[in-house]
Amino acid sequence: YLSPHWKNISARLLTLLVICIAVWSFGYGMEFFSPDLALKLWWVKIEYFGNVWLGPILFSFILSITQKPLKHRTSYILLSILPVIFIALVLTNDLHHLMWERAWIETDSRVAFLMYDRAAFFWIYVAYSYSLILIATVRMVRSFSSATGIFKKQLFVILLGVASPWVANIIYVFGFESLKHIDFTPTAFTISGIAFFFGLLRYQMLSLIPLAHETMINSMGDPVIAVDMRSRVLDMNKAAMAQCDTDFITPAHSSLETFFPSLADLVSQHQSTESIELETNFHDGQEAKTWGLRIFPLLGRKNKHRGRLLILKDITDKKRAENAAKEGERIQRVVLQASPNPIVYYNQNGEVTYLNPAFTRVFGWTLDELLGKRIDFVPKENLEETKAALKKTIERPEGNYGFLTRRSTKSGKILDVSINSAMHHPQDGSPPNMVVNFADITQIKQTERELRKTRDYITSIINSLPSILIGLNAEGIITQWNKQAEKLTGVMATNAIDHSIKDIFPQLAVFVMDIYRILESRKAQKETKRNLTINNKTIIVDIAIYPIISDSPPGVVIRIDDISDRVKIEEMMIQSEKMMSVGGLAAGMAHEINNPLAGIIQNTQVIKNRLTRPLPANIQAARECDVALEKMNTYMEKRNIFTMMDQVVKSGLRAAHIVDNMLSFSRKSGQRKSTHYLHEIMESTIELVGNDYNLKKRYDFRAIKIIRDYSDNVPPVICEKNKIQQVLLNILKNGAEAMAEANTADPGLCIRCFKDKDMVTLEIEDNGPGMDEKTKKRIFEPFFTTKEVGVGTGLGLSVSYFIITENHDGIMTVESFLGQGTRFIIKLPYRQTRKGS
Ligand code: ADP
Ligand code: MG
Repeated sequence: YLSPHWKNISARLLTLLVICIAVWSFGYGMEFFSPDLALKLWWVKIEYFGNVWLGPILFSFILSITQKPLKHRTSYILLSILPVIFIALVLTNDLHHLMWERAWIETDSRVAFLMYDRAAFFWIYVAYSYSLILIATVRMVRSFSSATGIFKKQLFVILLGVASPWVANIIYVFGFESLKHIDFTPTAFTISGIAFFFGLLRYQMLSLIPLAHETMINSMGDPVIAVDMRSRVLDMNKAAMAQCDTDFITPAHSSLETFFPSLADLVSQHQSTESIELETNFHDGQEAKTWGLRIFPLLGRKNKHRGRLLILKDITDKKRAENAAKEGERIQRVVLQASPNPIVYYNQNGEVTYLNPAFTRVFGWTLDELLGKRIDFVPKENLEETKAALKKTIERPEGNYGFLTRRSTKSGKILDVSINSAMHHPQDGSPPNMVVNFADITQIKQTERELRKTRDYITSIINSLPSILIGLNAEGIITQWNKQAEKLTGVMATNAIDHSIKDIFPQLAVFVMDIYRILESRKAQKETKRNLTINNKTIIVDIAIYPIISDSPPGVVIRIDDISDRVKIEEMMIQSEKMMSVGGLAAGMAHEINNPLAGIIQNTQVIKNRLTRPLPANIQAARECDVALEKMNTYMEKRNIFTMMDQVVKSGLRAAHIVDNMLSFSRKSGQRKSTHYLHEIMESTIELVGNDYNLKKRYDFRAIKIIRDYSDNVPPVICEKNKIQQVLLNILKNGAEAMAEANTADPGLCIRCFKDKDMVTLEIEDNGPGMDEKTKKRIFEPFFTTKEVGVGTGLGLSVSYFIITENHDGIMTVESFLGQGTRFIIKLPYRQTRKGS
């Protein structure tokens, strides 16, 4: 059973042990059954050939299991010296009686026992054997107590085997009377042998370990090859076989060349007995791989170099990673050198560990000057933000942190810089670095500042212009919207820009319909005095559209000027000019007509008196002419001469009335002026109109709804109450007539009175038919009327105009659009400031 494990030293020792036990047991058995003393002693001598060895062998065996086996032959020789002496002494005992003094046979009822008087060397032998066994036992107990698992069981069985001789001896020494003469030691050792045998084989001590070795080698992913000195493959593990695509090795095909051609040369070159590490390349299938090769010498007896063990390790990936890392470093160095931006590496303490050439170029310091030092280049006022940024960078495990700040150069110049910083945590766990990248943006900042200044300047110019300026791109999207545009439309620039003009200012869209055409013609397009209605208010504007032709995307600028006021003033000036000349003419004419008219009326009156009245002069004159006054009267009556005379007087009076009106066109001194509240005059006038019987024939004034809107604290004005009343009466009458004429559904008047600068304003607005532009321009002209002859004289408004403007230094205007009603505006100064009034 033990022979397959012959290589194992424990197995060899156990074999010897068992043989010795067998010899002893056999000898003892023969001794026991031998009849006479001589034969018994002969067998005793044979027994000693076995038992003297038991102590040393058992000792060596236990050592081989628990510790290292004794290797050197000398230790075995030393252990064998005494046993050999003991054997010799036993064989020659008759000559010196050193082992036993004498021996005899004692016969009990059944068996004859050999008895001795023991001599000194016997005890030496016992002491020697048991000392060795004792040492072995102690070793065993110690190993057992510290062993685990399968070894614990194994050692327990072996421990039983070691204990067995001791038990046998205890029995023998303190022995039972009946067994007194029988020695159980051989039996005990037999038990030991069996126990050891089981201990080794049963628990696979001998077969498991080599198996484990083999498995260990085979399970290695790395190819392992054993070759002899002539480079013939002795053995290889699974990984190696897989590598050269083979399942077995035959002696005929065992050259390393056949399996690993590229290794053969390399291996044969290295003849040394030192282990060595090399690197080599060969293909694995299609892929080129890099291998690490370790060559260990296989040493035989007397350290003779017998062969080599080759262990291959696939280091392709490692190599690749190493190369990549090296390449990465190289690239990084190149990038750092070539970067136009200054870059600095700081260690944990904020000291410089690297800076690139760009840093020197921009800031002036060289690496030599700053290596291992902090850079003192943060301006005082940027210290706080720099600290904050530093904190933020450190808090960020990945990614970088950027901010804008300033730094000074070596020469003290302050630069605007953009800084990006990031932490670098080396993989080897060493303290982190900080990498800081600077970009000198001084120039950019400067340009930016100038640009902003220019832009602000232009914006303020654009905003301060009285014109409305609107910029459009070619698609009609608003790009510019100045303050005046905001004011006019009520739309803020932020809400207008980037929107289509069609959405924001649809009224304007008509003018800019064809932006492309304007751009193509390269000519400004202008329109003047256009009506533009915004938020229900109509204004008069000049519109000019200028094409913008520049590098930037083309577009147009629209300029709108509100000329409403100018147009109004212009019209008023023309009006008053006209009125003055007409007024002067009419007044002059009135003066001239007045005298002849008075002559006509007076003389007609006198004629009538002289014809009809029975005055003495008349009677006298009639008698002288032989005509009776009565007869003459009768004639006159018969020919309707008196009626004609009355007609002449009536017509004369009518003309006189007109002339009287015309006289008020010229300026007159107002002696009868006194202080009045305009709204009070208004109220009394309304009452007057309501009661006018003549008017009632044509319309019912009381059917008109009157809304009054009189402000508080309107100061009184100095005026001629009658004249003002006449003006208001004209206006109210005109309004009522116009509304009646046009059959206005809900006739209404709105009367407002308020203070406006140094004037009191009275507005009278009706919701009648309104006037067209042409009519409106002429209503203040004397004798202008749209009414039938006899209904209107066309003097009402002209008289009113002169009363207000000439007699009272006021202003009278009209606002009217066809279909939208008419508003008369009268302004009277409430402080008499002008001279000559
Ligand atoms: P008359 O009333 O005799 O025609 P006026 O000088 O008072 O003369 O008015 C001149 C013209 O002005 C009128 O004929 C009329 O056409 C126009 N007019 C005056 N007031 C109004 C009004 N409120 N609505 C419409 N038209 C008016
Ligand atoms: Mg009138």
